[in-house]
This record gives sequence, C-alpha cells and structure tokens, in this order.
Amino acid sequence: MTVIVPVLGDQLSAGLASLKAVPRDDAVVLMAEVAEEAGYVPHHKQKLALVFAAMRHFAEDLRTDGWTVDYRRLDDPANLGGLSAEVEAAVARHGAERIVATLAGEHRVIALQAGWGAGTGVPVMLLADDRFLVSEEAFAEWASGRKRLRMEDFYRWQRAETGVLMVGDVPVGGQWNFDKENRKSLPKGVSVPEAPRFAPDAVTREVIAMVETRFPDNFGSLARFNWPVTRVQALEALGRFVDERLVQFGDYQDALVEGEATLFHSLLSTSINLGLLGPRECIDGAVAAMELGAPLNAVEGFVRQILGWREYVRGIYLLEGPDYVRRNALGATRPLPAIYWRGGSGMRCFDSAFDQTRDLAYAHHIQRLMVLGNFALLAGVDPFELHEWFLVVYADAYEWVEAPNVIGMSQFADGGLLGSKPYAAGGAYINRMGNHCAGCRYSLKVKSGPDACPFSYLYWDFLARHEAMLSSNQRMWTVYDGWRRLQPERQAEIRADAARFLAGLS
Ligand code: FAD
Ligand code: SF4
Repeated sequence: MTVIVPVLGDQLSAGLASLKAVPRDDAVVLMAEVAEEAGYVPHHKQKLALVFAAMRHFAEDLRTDGWTVDYRRLDDPANLGGLSAEVEAAVARHGAERIVATLAGEHRVIALQAGWGAGTGVPVMLLADDRFLVSEEAFAEWASGRKRLRMEDFYRWQRAETGVLMVGDVPVGGQWNFDKENRKSLPKGVSVPEAPRFAPDAVTREVIAMVETRFPDNFGSLARFNWPVTRVQALEALGRFVDERLVQFGDYQDALVEGEATLFHSLLSTSINLGLLGPRECIDGAVAAMELGAPLNAVEGFVRQILGWREYVRGIYLLEGPDYVRRNALGATRPLPAIYWRGGSGMRCFDSAFDQTRDLAYAHHIQRLMVLGNFALLAGVDPFELHEWFLVVYADAYEWVEAPNVIGMSQFADGGLLGSKPYAAGGAYINRMGNHCAGCRYSLKVKSGPDACPFSYLYWDFLARHEAMLSSNQRMWTVYDGWRRLQPERQAEIRADAARFLAGLS
C-alpha cells in the first residue's frame, strides 16, 4: 500500500511522528516548496532561504536513509503553488491509498490539513506532533479550571513532571528561578565569543540565488546568511553554545549592547523550530554542562526559556484558537510606523535592533520585547499589524510562537492572559540594560522638547492614556503613584511632547 507522508518545512526531524508511523517501503515522503506558504506574509529573505535550504538538505538525508522522497521545488514550472494542491496531485501521481501526516503547528495549516481527506478521497491520519514536551491535551488539562495561566506556574509544574533540575520534589539550588541574577548589563572588558560560522554550501547557495531572484522586494538582506541548515550544523551550534556561551548566558541575558547582535544567546530558535534539534536535547545539553562548571543561574535561565516559555506559548496558542491574533485589549489603532520597515528613527536603541533585524533576521529577546515591542506598545500601534511585522522579519518566526509573544507578552493585547502587567518601560530601563543611549541623538538628561528621549515621555503618556484600565492593577500601583506625584504642568508637558512626537511618526 502506498502512503503519502507530507513533511512540512518545519517538520525536519527524523523522528517525526508520521515518519515513525509508516513503514519505509510503503511511504512516499512529499516535500513541497509552495508559493502559498512562502507568501502568506512577505517573509524576510533569510527566513525563506533558511526553510528551503533546510528542506532540501533534509530530503537528501531522508533519501540517504532509504526513504522515497517526492520533492517539489519552488522553481519547478510544474509546481502547483499550494500545499493541498500538491498533496492531491501526489496522491494521484503515486496511486496512494492513504495519507499519514503530523499535525501542523499553525492554525492556518491545520485548517488545510483538515481538508486533505475531502480533496483527495483517501483516508487521512493526522498524528500529534510529539516533538513538543507537553501535548495539547496535557496543556489544556493543566489550564482547565485555573484562575490564571501564568508561565511561572506552568514552568514549575513542568520541572516537577520532567525532573529537570530537581532533587526529588525540590528545585536544584533551592530556588525555581534565578531571574533576578540574570539582569546585568555588560561591563567593559567582557568579550563575547564569536558565533559559529556556517558557510553556505552549493545547495544553500542555489536557494539563496533563487530567493534573491524570486523575492527581490522582500524585507531584509541575504548577504550575512549564517543559519544552520542541517542537523549536523544544528548540533554544532548547540555544542558551541554550551561550550562557549552558556556560562555567561544567565548574567547577560537581558543586556543590550551596541554592535553586539547576539551576545551570549544561543541562536538555536531557528534550529529547534525547524525540527533540526529537539527541545529536550537542548535542555539536557545545558544541564550536563553544570558538571563541567556552568553556573546554575545560566543553566536554569536557559532551561526556563525552553521548558518554560517555549512550551507555554505553544500551549496558549493552541488553547486560545485562531482569533487570538485579533485581540486588542488596549484598543490600539495606530498603523505600524514606517520606521519598522526603513529604520532611521534616530533612536539608537531602536535603529540598532532594526538594522540587525534587517541584516541577520535575528534580534535577541530583550531587543524584541523591550525595544521594538515596547516602542509599539507605548506608541499605541495596532497589535495585529505588529504581529504581522514580527512574523515577517525573523528567521525563527512561526505564528504559534510569535503570536503569544507579540499579542500577549509584548502588547498586553490579550488583556493580561499571558502577562500580569504590560512590559512597558521608559528610556531609563534601556539605559540601565545597555550602552545605546551614549550614542543617541536623543538624551535622557533632557527632560522635555525635541531632544528628550521619546521612550521616556511616551512611557508616561502610555500610563496616562490607560489609567482607567491599568491603575487598578496592583503591580502598577507604584508607577501610577509616580505619575500622580508629577505636577500638573509637568504632566501636560510630557503629554504635549508625546503628541508632537506621535504626530511626526504618523
Ligand atoms: P535564547 O535567548 O538563547 O533562548 C533559548 C531558546 O529558548 C530559544 O532558542 C527559544 O527556543 C526559547 N525561547 C526563549 N524565549 C522564548 C519565548 N519568549 N517564547 C518561546 N521560546 C522562547 N521566538 C521564536 O522562536 N519565534 C518567534 O517568532 C518569536 N517572536 C518573538 C516576538 C517577541 C515580541 C518576543 C518578545 C519574543 C519572541 N520570540 C520568538 C522569543 C525569543 O525572543 C526568541 O525565541 C529568541 O530571541 C531566539 O533567540 P535565541 O535562540 O538566541 O534564544
Ligand atoms: Fe533609546 Fe532613549 Fe536611549 Fe536614545 S536615549 S537610545 S531613544 S532609550
């Protein structure tokens, strides 16, 4: 019996549920580069090149391993342009009697998969994606009946369930969380090891040329493409991170440093999201490094990102359904400002994050959250427009992970489902965490007028705009006390600066 096994662009794992479920001799693995997926948002050029290059390498690995692979290239004139059309044609081409697939990560693709049975006339078996540590059902059970769905509660539950960094029922080191130790700015003299280089091979170079020709107007540059595109490279990236950067990952996790795009971050999100690495092997790699002297605050910080945040946001995405991306609890309506596409805002922190986003398709978490996201929050940008932007510009962007981070964590657009208060901060925070302010055309010392730091007056203006909704939140009492202590003339000055700046922004 011939079985079509469609493998999606982010399902590049040899242990994928559907590959485990079908005997090799019965299976025709279908992998299709389709315009529909390449164009549902106009992805960064590096994201397109990364996914297609990784797909082509994975197809070769499968063939070497004895699988029959039907690979549909984007530049093949016979390419049908859509995933469902390719699945239907493959069933007919191979006289297949069944389809076995692994459930997609995103609601949009899950909806396509649901139509494959009707479209092809053969039975479809959809298997849960067991590459995540927590199943959709287990998350729903954990969530059911809870008053609040906080990441910290989820994370502690997962630590206990998995036994990671646990001694019996007790967390290693006597604490669940070392977040407070992970907020240092980078002192002068601490050098950052260079991230590993993955020079594109002939396959990747061909893909890069295709993307450049076919998507010339998409955002971003391909010149500095440096992503792992095979499992071997992804394992090297993991090993190099654990050996060279993990030790300082914890201390400087939140730092913002001019000219240091990646700091001690792992750069592993693209590989994990594509399926080249499993989350558990990343966690195990970091935990094992403790025996070689990696400090607990670094290892726990890294484990929390993967066992905690990554699993948690995926659970929230599936639980909340496709409408989650349309939430707008703060009623923000400003169109996405052009500086998100062109940069050149004059705000050094923003431009630095923007430039590296354009050149590397990467920004680390604090740049995404506390600079690019925070600015949109303070400026009242429509969260759906921002969500689409974040989906476009990063090489690791998939809706299941991006949307809860943008709509929930960064924009508070879900009204506090994900975060207990908005991640809003003024220029003083950015100055504390990094060194951008020293080279900025704006100044934190200037309190008002065209040279004052926009983050500072926009922060107060944001609080004032949303006082009715946010001031009753206990975690906001201190900042609202601060706002109310300002003289009415000072408050008026701040609001006038914000109005002038926002008018210029539009
Ligand atoms: P590290 O800092 O080294 O962290 C290690 C790993 O932990 C990451 O590789 C990632 O797999 C995981 N992780 C860390 N933080 C998160 C988080 N908040 N949610 C889920 N996983 C996390 N991550 C994506 O993978 N895709 C996205 O599209 C994405 N969009 C984001 C948008 C916003 C507004 C924010 C605030 C965060 C977003 N993140 C996203 C989460 C996080 O910023 C990235 O995972 C991280 O910056 C990737 O770089 P890294 O691999 O060097 O991560
Ligand atoms: Fe950013 Fe303000 Fe600092 Fe300039 S002064 S870098 S705008 S925080």
